[in-house]
Amino acid sequence: MPINPLHSPLGLILTLGLLLPAALTAQDKAPVSDSIPSQNGDISIYPINHATMALAWKGQTVYIDPVGGAAAFKGLPAPDLILITHIHPDHFSVQTLNAVAGDKARLAAPPSVVAKLPSNLAARAATMTNGQSEDFQGIGVEAVPAYNLTAARLSNHPKGRDDGYVLTMGGKRIYVSGDTEDVPEMLALKNIDVAFVCMNQPTMNVDQAARAVRAFKPKIVYPYHYRGSDLERFKTLVGADQGVEVRIRDWYATR
Ligand SMILES: [Zn+2]
Repeated sequence: MPINPLHSPLGLILTLGLLLPAALTAQDKAPVSDSIPSQNGDISIYPINHATMALAWKGQTVYIDPVGGAAAFKGLPAPDLILITHIHPDHFSVQTLNAVAGDKARLAAPPSVVAKLPSNLAARAATMTNGQSEDFQGIGVEAVPAYNLTAARLSNHPKGRDDGYVLTMGGKRIYVSGDTEDVPEMLALKNIDVAFVCMNQPTMNVDQAARAVRAFKPKIVYPYHYRGSDLERFKTLVGADQGVEVRIRDWYATR
């Protein structure tokens, strides 16, 4: 009669011993990154989830809209800088900030977010309104407008409340849209090397997002904040004639 290993204590221990290391390895795996060469070392891009990402450059790590707790950032260095675009829970979590910010990270966020930060984090936060720029240890950050245009959605992201960001790292200009429609300030962006562009309601549909991308012509565009969107349609609509490379990455893998 065959012995089921799970029915003997020794078999159970051996079985768990074989299974556990594999499970831990899968969980501890560092997130997959893309590399962008700059004048001064590579920039690593880590899609984390939905609107959440990390960038690393010259030994510095930037978390953008960190949510999902410390587990979402497992395998990544602690942040030197944390950028927050706006108050919505898929972008802003005090609980996650408390878990990941450590005691050295600077923060940058619009006034509506800074007002909701606990005092220990607010003390380290640069309050950035649209149009303001700051330098964080050689990383340039400009806050740019992010807002809704469609009448029925104006209250979702009112003009002036939220930030998108343009980061400069080693001469590369990286645009993170935050939650926005195709506002004139986005269409007027110049010399963007890498753009992270949101799509899904109440931000843009893929047609709107593709039109915007064709207008400001980033060299590389990553769709993000795209849950449920047809990314192949986005890619087709962006087309190949403007010299924009569409990079589709999985922002919804369970880690
Ligand atoms: Zn959002």
